[in-house]
This record gives sequence, structure tokens and C-alpha cells, in this order.
Amino acid sequence: MPRLRLVLGDQLSDSIASLADYADGDLILMAEVAEETGYVPHHKKKIAFLFSAMRHFASRLEGGGKAVRYVRLDDPDNSGSLKGEVVRALKAGSYEEVVVVEPGEYRLKAEFETWSDQLGLPVRIRRDDRFICTLDRFNAWAEGRKRLTMEYFYREMRRETGLLMVGDEPEGGQWNFDKDNRKALPEDVSLPDRAFVEPDEMTRDVLTLVGDRFADHFGDLEPFGYAVTEEDARAQLDGFITQGLPCFGDYQDALKQGEAFLFHSVLALYMNAGLLDPLEVCRKVETAYRQGHAPLNAVEGFIRQILGWREYARGIYWRFMPDYLERNALEAHRKLPDFYWTADTEMACVRDVVTTTRKHAYAHHIQRLMVTGNFALLAGIDPREVNAWYLAVYADAYEWVEAPNTHGMALFADGGLMATKPYAASGSYINKMSDHCKGCSYAVSKKNGPKACPLNYLYWNFLMENEELLRGNHRLSMIYKTLDRMSDEKREAVRGDSHRFFKRIGIEQ
Ligand code: FAD
Ligand code: SF4
Repeated sequence: MPRLRLVLGDQLSDSIASLADYADGDLILMAEVAEETGYVPHHKKKIAFLFSAMRHFASRLEGGGKAVRYVRLDDPDNSGSLKGEVVRALKAGSYEEVVVVEPGEYRLKAEFETWSDQLGLPVRIRRDDRFICTLDRFNAWAEGRKRLTMEYFYREMRRETGLLMVGDEPEGGQWNFDKDNRKALPEDVSLPDRAFVEPDEMTRDVLTLVGDRFADHFGDLEPFGYAVTEEDARAQLDGFITQGLPCFGDYQDALKQGEAFLFHSVLALYMNAGLLDPLEVCRKVETAYRQGHAPLNAVEGFIRQILGWREYARGIYWRFMPDYLERNALEAHRKLPDFYWTADTEMACVRDVVTTTRKHAYAHHIQRLMVTGNFALLAGIDPREVNAWYLAVYADAYEWVEAPNTHGMALFADGGLMATKPYAASGSYINKMSDHCKGCSYAVSKKNGPKACPLNYLYWNFLMENEELLRGNHRLSMIYKTLDRMSDEKREAVRGDSHRFFKRIGIEQ
């Protein structure tokens, strides 16, 4: 029974379920389509990474003797949509069914579910088994729980995989070494060299195409040095294990002006596109620990991000979609400031993160959560706009992982499903964890007035604007006690500074 097998741009794994029972007579369809590049204005590097990785994957499949129909974006007959390409392929050949693995986005999954009726033949949507935890397993864990605390989910995953376990006990006698992972970066620390992957001819072709077709999209296309094959992605993993992992834990939360990567792995884009297997990544990192190459706080911290946060984010997304993205618990309605695209702001911390993002289609977790995320939270930016920005600008961004992090963790828009309290911070947090404030036009020590760090008054303004919803949160009770001691004049100054600031950046409602 010949089958048409559709492989999506983030399904570039040899083990993908849609290829599992490939037989002679089948055809693998891969397509670069305008519909998927255009629904948010993706960073040029993200598009280039995906198209090049897709082309390399297709040629590897062909090299292995499989039949592949690869539709390029500039193919004159390209219909512009996945469904259009499936229809074209079905017209060109005779197939009894279409096979595809579930996509990483609700919108697309809902669309695939309508295809059988529309195409008049079975469309089999197979499970994506490249994750460590199945969605059924996540739902079984979540069922009946009052709070979906990531830490408890993570412990079950540790037990089930045996990662960093000694019998039934966690390695080192504790599950979590997070308190050891909050150091600021010393001046004299030397950072890992990032291996730049020289673009080959196939990538060069893609860079030309993206440069022509997406000139108006955000971000720098070149220099382009990301891996686009499984082999090169594995080399990036090995490079991280040798150079980055030993200090990953210590400086996981640190920020440094002009430094995008620090000791982070920059592996999410490869795992999310299918070039690296997350469990294999965790096992390799565990081996490095067992061989004495990295300390436990680094290895546990790293494994927790993948085995815990990554799997948990996916579980949350699929459990609560489609209404998850409609939630706006804090009723935040201000528009996204232009400086999220231009970096044209006097706030040195935000400017640095947007600049990094524009250059690399990358920012590390604390930059995303505590700089651009924190600003959007404090300023009450509409979650839909913030989500669209995060989805567009990062090379690793797919809705299943982007939305819980942005909507839930950064913006508290889900009302506390993921985070027990909003991750709101004033300028002193940034000052403690970074060197940004030294070079900023604002003074982090000032609380009010034109020279004061905007995060200082926006922080209190945020607590006042959301008092009704947040005062009852016991983790914020100390902060509200401090607010209660604030004089009326001081409150007025906070409100006045905040509104003048919103006006100045063009987002006052
Ligand atoms: P490292 O710091 O080296 O961490 C190792 C790996 O752990 C990552 O590669 C990633 O796979 C995983 N990981 C770490 N933190 C998280 C997390 N909170 N949730 C899920 N996985 C995690 N991650 C994405 O993969 N795609 C996104 O679109 C995305 N959007 C985000 C938006 C916001 C607002 C925030 C706060 C976080 C977001 N994250 C996202 C999570 C995290 O910031 C990135 O995974 C990480 O920065 C990627 O860089 P890295 O590979 O160097 O990660
Ligand atoms: Fe950011 Fe405020 Fe520090 Fe400036 S002073 S870098 S705005 S935290």
C-alpha cells in the first residue's frame, strides 16, 4: 500500500514515526511553504536554519535510497501551503494514505485533523515519540493534582529514566542543586569558544534565498554558523560538554553585556528540529559527570532543564490548549514597544538582549525571562503580542515550548498554572546578576524621577495595577506589606513616572 509521508521542518530525525515503516513505492514529501514562514515574521536566521536543515535531511534520505519529493520555496509551482503541497503530490502519484507525525502546534494539528475529509483518503497522524515523556504519561501525572509543580514531575522523570539516580535515591542526596546555580559572572572568567559551522553550498543557496525573500524580516542573516546536520549538531553537543558544561550550573543565571551565550549549550534549536535526541543529550551529559568532567550542580541543572522543564512545557501546552493562549489573567493590554524590534531604547539591559537576539536568533534563558520577559510583565504588554514576538525571533521557537514559557512563566498570563508567583523584578536583580547597569543612561540606585531605572518604578506600578489579583498570593505577602507602608506621595510618584514612561515609549493606553 503506497503511502505519502509528510515530514515537517522540525521533524528531521531518522527515528521519526512517519518514516518507521517506509517501503518501496512510498514517497516522502517535504516542503518549504510561505504559509509557515509568514504567520509570524520569523527571524531570517531561523528560516535559514530550518530550510538548510530540511534540505540536508532530504538529501540524506535520498542518499539512503528513499524517494523524496522536496519542494523549494522558489519552485514556481509551490502552492504556498502544506495542504496544497499534499494535494499536488497526490495528483502526481497514487497513494492510499497520508502519514504524518503530529506537529508542535495546535493550529496545525487542528488543520491536519480536517484533511482526511477534505482529501478523501485516510490521513494518519502518528504520535511524536521523540520526547522522553508521552502526553498520556504527563496527563496521568497531572490528573487530579491541585498544583502542577514542575519539581515533582521532574523527580518522577528522574526515577523513570534512572538519570542521576543511585538506586531509588537522587545522586548526591538531593534532587535539585538550584541554589548553587545563581552566581554572577566574575570579571576574569574566560568564556567557551563557540564552534562556527562554515556554511556549505547548500546552506549558501538557502542564505541567498532567505536574503532575497525575507529581507524585511527581523534579524541578521549573516554571519550564519549554526549546524544544519545531525553530525554537526552532535559536534556542537560534544563542544558544549567539554567547554560549557563544567561552569553551566554556576553561571546559569548570569548576564553579561555583549555576551549572548556564556556557558549555555545553544542546543535547543537542534533538539527542537530533531537533529539531536533529548534523552541521548541527557545521557551523554550524565556520562560526562560519571567520568569526572563536570560537577553535579552543573549536570543536574542541565538535565533538569531538558528532562524537567522541556518535557513539562510540552505537557502543559497540549493539556491546556486551545484556550491556554486566550488566557490573560492580568488583563494586560498595552502594545509591544517598537524597541523589541529596533533595540532603540536607553535601557541598557533590554537593548543588549534585543541586539543579541537580532544578531543570533538566540538569547539565553535569563535574558528571555528576566530582561525582555520581565519588562513585558511589568509594563503590562498584551500576551498575544509578546507570544508572537518570542515565536518569531528565536531559532528554537515552536509554540509547544515557547507559549508555556512566555505566557505562563514570563507573563503569568495563565494565572499561576505554571509559576506560583509572577517573576517580577526591579532593577536591583539585573544589577546583581549583570554588568548592564554600569553602562546604562538610567541610575539603578534611583527609584523615581527622569533618571531613575524604569524597572524600579514599573515594579511597584505593576504591583499596584494588579493588587486585586496578586495580594492574596502568599508568596507576595511581604512585598504587599512593604507596599502598604508606602506613602501616598510615593505611590503617586510611581504612577506618574510609569505613565510618563509609557507615553514616552508610545504604549500609553
Ligand atoms: P540551555 O540553557 O543550555 O539549557 C539546556 C536545554 O534545556 C535547552 O536547550 C532547552 O532544550 C532546555 N530548556 C532550558 N530551559 C527550558 C525551559 N524553560 N523550557 C523548556 N526547555 C528548556 N525554549 C525553546 O526551546 N523554545 C522557545 O521558543 C523558548 N521560548 C522561551 C520564551 C521565554 C519567555 C522563556 C523565559 C524561555 C523560553 N525557552 C524556550 C526556554 C529557554 O530559554 C531556552 O530553551 C534556552 O534559552 C535555549 O538555549 P540553550 O539551548 O542554550 O539552553
Ligand atoms: Fe536595566 Fe535599569 Fe540597569 Fe538600566 S539601570 S541596565 S534599565 S536594570
